[in-house]
Amino acid sequence: MAPRILIVEDEEKMARFIELELSHEGYEVLKAADGRTALERALSEDLDLILLDIMLPELNGLEVLRRLRAEKQTPVILLTARDSVMDKVSGLDAGAIDYITKPFAIEELLARIRVALKFRSVPPQAAQGAEKESAGAAKAPKGALCWGRLVLDDKSRRVTWDGRDIDLTNREFLMLRILLENRDIVLSRDTLLDRVCGYDYIGETNIVDVYVRHLRSKIDEVYGVRMIQTVRGAGYVIRGDQ
Ligand code: CA
Repeated sequence: MAPRILIVEDEEKMARFIELELSHEGYEVLKAADGRTALERALSEDLDLILLDIMLPELNGLEVLRRLRAEKQTPVILLTARDSVMDKVSGLDAGAIDYITKPFAIEELLARIRVALKFRSVPPQAAQGAEKESAGAAKAPKGALCWGRLVLDDKSRRVTWDGRDIDLTNREFLMLRILLENRDIVLSRDTLLDRVCGYDYIGETNIVDVYVRHLRSKIDEVYGVRMIQTVRGAGYVIRGDQ
């Protein structure tokens, strides 16, 4: 069955354009042009993904997302015209899986949709089991860093959850290691940027948010936990032992 995608976008031309492209790719498309209708459809329909504009009439996209998350975990990609890091971070905190800034290339949106749809295939038992039995600490090699069932072993450069490998890029691995080494200490974006990318890195500090987003999508979203916490205006932290 074709994945069902809800497009929430009040700009008619944009909505129509995305609809045509997604239909062409074989997706089943539904549309909503305001926040209230979007929330109703998101709650009543069986959807695989929602593309959610932030600036919407009635209810804004972030509010739609917050209310939706109280009921359902349907994956959401935010569409934002605003190039505001805060918006994106609040969106990701509120449970969006990804965001894309308008204007975007349709190929990029399609690629992100394919990634987001992969999360559908995670069996719900995996997440529930992880929550239920999280009390037992993971078996870990000597010197490894642990958090609940997650084990990061620097020597073998492996990260596992309950023995299953989690595939991380070098920078994602480094970022996770730094956060685990500094447990309960809030690290600023600048500190993380220096440690992960090096002092000579020239670029945007929001690259840190991007790595956090990747880690959350590979760990939190898959195993139903909240590992890396955002401390508003301060940075990121991993607290306690889950
Ligand atoms: Ca809009």
